[in-house]
Amino acid sequence: MKVKKLLWLLPVLAVVGYAACRKTDSRATEEPSTQVKESRFFSEHTSTNPQVQGIAKYLERQNEKLGFVEKTVKKIGYPRWNKTFIVNQSTGINPSDRLENEDTTTIYYIPFVRDSQNYVNASLLIRTQPSDTAVQYLMDWQYQNYGFDSTATGWNANSIFHVFAMMDNLVFGRTQFRIIDSNLLVSAERNALNGAGLSFNSTTVTRTLDFAPNVGSSNLTELLMPVEVCTPVTVCLLECPPELHGFRPGLTETLPCCLVQATYSFCTTVMVYIPSGDGGDGGSGSGGTGTPPSGGGGGGGLTPGDCGGVAPQALIETADPCTSGWGPVNPDEPPVTEPVDTMLARYSRIFNSTADSIFALSNSNNEEWGHILVQNASNNVYPKNCTTSHDPGYVKQNRSILNGEIIIGELHTHPDPSPNPLNRSAPSGADLAPLRINSKQNYTVFVDCGNVRYALVIENVSLSRSFFASNPVDLINYNQSVIAQSHPDAYSNWQNATQAALLQLIGSSSNCGIGFYKSDATKTNFVKLN
Ligand SMILES: [Zn+2]
Repeated sequence: MKVKKLLWLLPVLAVVGYAACRKTDSRATEEPSTQVKESRFFSEHTSTNPQVQGIAKYLERQNEKLGFVEKTVKKIGYPRWNKTFIVNQSTGINPSDRLENEDTTTIYYIPFVRDSQNYVNASLLIRTQPSDTAVQYLMDWQYQNYGFDSTATGWNANSIFHVFAMMDNLVFGRTQFRIIDSNLLVSAERNALNGAGLSFNSTTVTRTLDFAPNVGSSNLTELLMPVEVCTPVTVCLLECPPELHGFRPGLTETLPCCLVQATYSFCTTVMVYIPSGDGGDGGSGSGGTGTPPSGGGGGGGLTPGDCGGVAPQALIETADPCTSGWGPVNPDEPPVTEPVDTMLARYSRIFNSTADSIFALSNSNNEEWGHILVQNASNNVYPKNCTTSHDPGYVKQNRSILNGEIIIGELHTHPDPSPNPLNRSAPSGADLAPLRINSKQNYTVFVDCGNVRYALVIENVSLSRSFFASNPVDLINYNQSVIAQSHPDAYSNWQNATQAALLQLIGSSSNCGIGFYKSDATKTNFVKLN
């Protein structure tokens, strides 16, 4: 029987194999011809500027001799002639002299974009003088070759970042960039990180560049640049979670920042020396400090160099020498979600002194106290409405808020007349009730026991609703006390007995959608219990 089945399958396999071959063949013919690429190279995104048109014509003639377009497109994509930076030494210094001053030097920065990407990855730099035209490529991955010393003269790695940010802003209007390589951090950023006790996280550090109004937003199809460009930078070292959008008033970028920022300016001389020499195929650059490029691969010539074989000495954290140390932040990109334990620590730092003082009051009178946690329209978070119902086991929160405020959580105390802090109960089943009523992502009930702070957090709204639908809060509350009474710690560590009982009843957060957290004595380090 088996043999029969295989025989029956053979013709089918042959047909499939044939079809697969056909498909590969047809795909190969879909690859655009050199002629198509050359046509796109020179006819898409053309410039209306006569000088840029002249450069394109010059390169077209060079291509007829050298055929560099095919290789160039493969490596760095297509030029955006109409987004060329033009830097002219005489412009702005003495414009009226321009016609007489024929030996003036002009540098053109032509941005390149790959079809598969939506950011500028390379630039063709062209220097024109009446007697001479020199060309040089600058690729984003070459930033490493310029070193990270901001005190050195000439360009450093951040100058390359700055130049690419400017081009990207001109082509795509982007102002915000994610910093991936920690070597790019300037001292202001390092100090701000250290001051906040944060370590570098390549997924949450962004720079927002405040380009001058004439940069990027100009109606001009090309941009005449001053010889030195200065751009103020605002750095966000920890992006906000989605519910805290809009923290940075006055800035137009889409991703809000939480906690830490640094501000400074980048100033970069864009009038740079480009060594003479016409064409050739990717020779190595001979430029010294401050000239593009000072490292391997970029070389003079009309074909961009390769990054392979370049072993940057200063590189510490970036694994791939062929990538840039930054990345675009797109307006529709989902923001980085703050881990829940980080969020709890952040909230705790905000209300620590308030919570500690109401706990002290609460424990001395044996009355529960509480406050709500609100967030205002500027996304500032703060405790509000400290209150007590003069009851040892219950407090009715005061939920009155102002326009623009929303309640994102609440805290209440668990006092106990015994001097032993372990007599103070962990959260009760009844403490879950506010999570059922305020059924929204990350709503948090904090319970302060003085020695530790607990937190119950809605981590998955729909799971939590299903959980509450089949587990009434009153029943959890009742069962918790029954289980805790028979727990081995019932007479020595009530806190642990009640904690264990609640854990048993709610189970893993992946099932109930509710995270159960406990802090250490600092109340700013939270560990998940379930
Ligand atoms: Zn409670």
